[in-house]
Amino acid sequence: MTDSVRTLTPSEPRAIPLAAPAIGGNAWAYVKDCLDSNWVSSVGAYVDRFEAQIADRTGVPCAVATVNGTAALHVALLVAGVEPDDEVILPALSFIAPANAVRYAAAWPVFLDVEPDYWQLDPARLAAFLIGECRDVNGTLRRIATGRRVRAVLPVDLLGHPCDITAIAEIAREHRLLVIEDATESLGALCRGRAVGSGADIACFSFNGNKIVTTGGGGMIVTGDAARAARARYLTTQAKDDPVEFVHGTVGYNYRLTNLQAALGVAQLEQLDVHVAAKRRIARAYTTAFRDLACLRPMREAPWAFSTFWMYTILVDSSRAAVTSRALIAALASERIQARPLWQPLHRSPAHARDTSHAACPVADRLHRDGVTLPCSVGLTEADQQRVIDLVVDRIAR
Ligand SMILES: *Cc1c(COP(=O)(O)O)cnc(C)c1O
Repeated sequence: MTDSVRTLTPSEPRAIPLAAPAIGGNAWAYVKDCLDSNWVSSVGAYVDRFEAQIADRTGVPCAVATVNGTAALHVALLVAGVEPDDEVILPALSFIAPANAVRYAAAWPVFLDVEPDYWQLDPARLAAFLIGECRDVNGTLRRIATGRRVRAVLPVDLLGHPCDITAIAEIAREHRLLVIEDATESLGALCRGRAVGSGADIACFSFNGNKIVTTGGGGMIVTGDAARAARARYLTTQAKDDPVEFVHGTVGYNYRLTNLQAALGVAQLEQLDVHVAAKRRIARAYTTAFRDLACLRPMREAPWAFSTFWMYTILVDSSRAAVTSRALIAALASERIQARPLWQPLHRSPAHARDTSHAACPVADRLHRDGVTLPCSVGLTEADQQRVIDLVVDRIAR
């Protein structure tokens, strides 16, 4: 029997999802407007409005909507000038999309460990890698072990918390590397008072169903470089040079967002601050409830950061807790509460680990072993959150 056809008995607890979308505000009106006007496809006023709204929100002049965040990353790498056989530096802990996007561009990801405090790409590791493992060959930065050109660094703002883009961008500048920021998990977050996405050469956002605002599926590229934005717009719309004669200057992609999706996006962005406030309230309640549990360590917010706490995550210290992270997830599942581990570190992923050699990433490994992401939907009720808290406290301490 699948979950959807299972009948609920009165004693069965209500399911609490990990992160469900919160559709509200003008969503119905704007989507209906598309349907009524027949502007449902890949051009339309809502696409333009959605792009302008993201540009405004991030303070980055140019925004190009895409079909999803992975496509945004792919095209961002292309317009940044990443070429086949280049290397691109990524954090070892992330959802797999940015590593896949690097391979779509026929380049190679190099994974560096994250730092233990806020779990983001470690600027100190980045500097050590560039100084110790790369060298300048006739004006080109090359990795000594492979001889390949190192072209860009692709930090990820993980779990709603910004990476230290200020430090990363400065190190990148010294080594003439481009910075492509994967801000897909962290729209609304700030690094030293500046919106994520604004401190990089190019940045990407995602509007997948579990992100802080959603279009069902969607993405965005932002950049201050108008030529790169124009190139991104060209590549995402099949690289059409002559719309009448259908002349295409290169191999392009059908990566454009539809007006229908953008209409939902415009309505969702109007709710962004409400969603961020809800995520932060949920995070505060969890962190307060877990304050006295020495075997459990909640995610933190750096003094220089404003986090959205997109996916509220705790580390279970299995040497002190009564359960491991995976046993806690199973215990929650048996009460119909959805929780999950963090992603398999990319230097261990069968999809990528074989390709090239990677340094040890002990912090990413530990976060993978101990991490548990707890339910944190924007619409999570206080009563449901209390159920999660009670169960975690009960299992951890026993
Ligand atoms: C969600 C996400 C993406 C993009 O995902 P799409 O589903 O393609 O929109 C990219 N990188 C990271 C780190 C993500 O979490």
